[in-house]
Amino acid sequence: MIQNKFGSFSLSNEIQKALRVLDYEIPTEVQERVIPLALEKKDLIVKAKTGSGKTAAYAIPICEMIDWLENKPQALVLTPTRELAVQVKEDVTNIGRFKRIKAAAIYGGHPFAIEKTELKQKTHVAVGTPGRVMDHIRKGTLPLSRISCLVIDEADRMLDMGFIDQVEEIIKELPKDRVTMLFSATMPQKIKDLSLNEQRTPARIDIHEDS
Ligand code: ADP
Ligand code: MG
Repeated sequence: MIQNKFGSFSLSNEIQKALRVLDYEIPTEVQERVIPLALEKKDLIVKAKTGSGKTAAYAIPICEMIDWLENKPQALVLTPTRELAVQVKEDVTNIGRFKRIKAAAIYGGHPFAIEKTELKQKTHVAVGTPGRVMDHIRKGTLPLSRISCLVIDEADRMLDMGFIDQVEEIIKELPKDRVTMLFSATMPQKIKDLSLNEQRTPARIDIHEDS
């Protein structure tokens, strides 16, 4: 078996194979720090700049923990923009390809009926913007009972775009027994407050600018 530097995380062969296809040989610093803790189901608050590889840092552990047989979503990723939702869906699909993991992107401006159908079939990971996610929750088209992992990506942009109240509203609907990972390039007080309110003694990971 070919080993890569991701081999030290005790990832399944399916995930390691997918990382080789993606040409991810060496974990970035944020991946190095996040993956082992996320695999242990620790709550995390992570500060790391854009381009540091945050998506795979959470997508790898999420793909590891997905039970393919379960049709309802097991992870929910909140993103501030539709572009990011689509990108994260693609990244999750690529990392989870050999486990045949299904991800759905749900966001304003995208046909609701198509999303509804996708969510009704098999969706392991739902990725979406807060407004549309809340729409699906209200209409009962996004089942939350099996969600065991929540990711809040680009939390500072969520705040800038006025989405934090919606994020809080969504969190209230989620099962309490879950892991929550929060990622942000900057840590304004409002984001620290969100973490204090919604996370269980999270591990703090701070990747410095100059690294
Ligand atoms: P961030 O969310 O921190 O801004 P991304 O997760 O979007 O960063 O990753 C930035 C780029 O780096 C993407 O093009 C991604 O495919 C690539 N990338 C991520 N991790 C690795 C890795 N371990 N090896 C090589 N490229 C990587
Ligand atoms: Mg990102």
